[in-house]
Amino acid sequence: MGDALESGFSCQVCGERHVLPLSYSVKVPLAATMIPANELDERLVITPDQCVIDGRDFYLRGRILVPVIGLEEPFVWGVWAEVGPKNFVRTNELWTVEGREDEPPFQGWLNSELPLFGNTINLEVGVQTQPVGQRPRFTVVDCEHSLAVEQSEGITMQRVEEIAVRMLHPAGQSL
Ligand SMILES: [Zn+2]
Repeated sequence: MGDALESGFSCQVCGERHVLPLSYSVKVPLAATMIPANELDERLVITPDQCVIDGRDFYLRGRILVPVIGLEEPFVWGVWAEVGPKNFVRTNELWTVEGREDEPPFQGWLNSELPLFGNTINLEVGVQTQPVGQRPRFTVVDCEHSLAVEQSEGITMQRVEEIAVRMLHPAGQSL
């Protein structure tokens, strides 16, 4: 079942073979991409994991894990969520503190677009701190949302392929 991960799959949209990624990630929050280039120095502070805009909007990068049926490894959406100032500060205080994964989950709101799931901006997630060195896990709160359903029920390798096609050919035929 994991064969397609190594050998790729033949794409029904373009006819080429593509490798089959098990993760996709977004490098910056959507809000950061809206800032005009000449204002970036003044308004944006960003690392690979944290982002602050205008000193008052706070974002964390995290991972939405989706089990893949028949695989040990999960599928991962690497995305950003806006979080409240207190939780942002707390996260920073605990950045290198052993045992920080015992923190209770807190609220976040997605700030990355995942067009496969409709409008995901401000979709509420639970943010669960992970052991030092790992990005937090995001869990979609609305259990009827299609992304939440995939998160709780898992997806098939065929779905992983569909996602690959949609990500590679955003304007291609709908699946
Ligand atoms: Zn293709």
